[in-house]
Amino acid sequence: MSEFDYDLFVIGGGSGGVRAARIAAQHGAKVALAEEYRYGGTCVIRGCVPKKLLVYASQFSEAFEDAVGFGWSGLEGATFDWATLIANKDREIGRLEGAYLANLERAGVAAIRSRATLESPHRVFLEAEDRSVTAKTILIATGGRPNIDPRLPGVEHVITSNEVFHLETLPERVVVTGGGYIAVEFAGILNGLGVETTLLYRGEEILRGFDDDLRTALHAEMERKGVKIVCGDVFEKIEKTDAGLLGHTAAGHVLAADQILFAIGRSPNTNGLGLECAGVTTDVHGAIVVDEWSRTSVPSIYAVGDVTNRINLTPVAIREGHAFADTVFGGRPVNVDHETVASAVFSQPELGTVGLTEVEARAAFQIVDVYKTNFRPMLHTLSGREERMLMKLVVDGETDRVLGVHVMGHGAAEMVQVLGILLKKGATKADFDATVAVHPTAAEELVTMRMAPERYVREAAE
Ligand code: NDP
Repeated sequence: MSEFDYDLFVIGGGSGGVRAARIAAQHGAKVALAEEYRYGGTCVIRGCVPKKLLVYASQFSEAFEDAVGFGWSGLEGATFDWATLIANKDREIGRLEGAYLANLERAGVAAIRSRATLESPHRVFLEAEDRSVTAKTILIATGGRPNIDPRLPGVEHVITSNEVFHLETLPERVVVTGGGYIAVEFAGILNGLGVETTLLYRGEEILRGFDDDLRTALHAEMERKGVKIVCGDVFEKIEKTDAGLLGHTAAGHVLAADQILFAIGRSPNTNGLGLECAGVTTDVHGAIVVDEWSRTSVPSIYAVGDVTNRINLTPVAIREGHAFADTVFGGRPVNVDHETVASAVFSQPELGTVGLTEVEARAAFQIVDVYKTNFRPMLHTLSGREERMLMKLVVDGETDRVLGVHVMGHGAAEMVQVLGILLKKGATKADFDATVAVHPTAAEELVTMRMAPERYVREAAE
């Protein structure tokens, strides 16, 4: 008999926690998992999955317009019903949540609906059941939560990505604030659904950290589609009036809206978790500090996913959870490679990016060659839509190795998944050139960039 109730206790039923619990159980561990809200976590319940469904929904307005150039008519008066979309989305999310729970139970994991907090390095308190359980190993996978600025006057009137998926009616006017993934994605969704949309961002250009050409190109395309983008400004006060919300900005503007959506980043979900009771160390952002095996400062406690604030993406959390379970319960030490992780922004148009930006490459390499193409995709020849597609390869001018690929346009997310393999394998520009194109596609441009590159040679440090 073990001295503990469980071999593994997982706190959090999102992507990382569920994967870890399931794999550990398959390795023969006795596992329990506590989730206080819904199985599936942010990604499934109020993140990636419902977001993508809303992106699809919002793209029909343009598709109807584009269809005319291909000979279709009769689509002009098409109407959209938010309630139908949300009901259908909720049904799909309910189905996925059920699948997550069923997979856990099939693997033999005890799924507990409760908030769980740490009491010691081996003990967890289950609030809903008012009891404590012990485990040899504890995994924290509690994810993140959306930030708001609690000092902002009127902040109680704003919503975050948690609430936007459950609005009863589609607002007529929305201001989205933030300039990251969630802000640009929701600006595109709302605009596509016919909402008068403004994006308010504090910096000079949206999507800091992405390649500069992608940032400016996306900015231009979003504005062309009707999103009003205001940079270099922030809210100072939100006021609720009979005519809706008024957002007063630092630069003295007043932005009127029916909803104001805050998308200003997410924080690790560690508040009130009892980390101090167990002695788990966090950093200045509240993220749990872990080593390359996802082990915290307490040897019996591990953490994976957004709560550790490494790369806050679902597939990374899943990898980390799987690697933890294989290492601790499968006798197969695996650590996750966090280098060259591809990602997509489901903006409109979409972005796909992997590897170094031009700025990063030029800071790190002596000679950098940049190949760029910007063209009107075939889809928009007959549709008549003025929408450009951008592709960019960032290459090490000394070794010919491709350091980064950045794509804006239809299918960018699908392309970058495959481009990620090439960059992981160290593909060179010559490898791209040696690959025969698939025609007619947009992606063929990636292997037909024969132009002379823009070459940047780093100046010797003085
Ligand atoms: P991001 O970190 O992507 O962006 C946060 C944005 O908010 C930045 O533009 C930042 O500005 C701005 N900001 C931060 N603090 C303030 C403030 N106090 N006042 C005004 N603006 C502020 O966060 P998101 O919320 O968009 O998304 C959270 C995370 O979720 C992402 O980092 C990503 O990892 C993940 N995600 C991934 C998606 C995908 O893979 N497609 C989709 C959605 C989310 P600045 O740049 O100046 O710091």
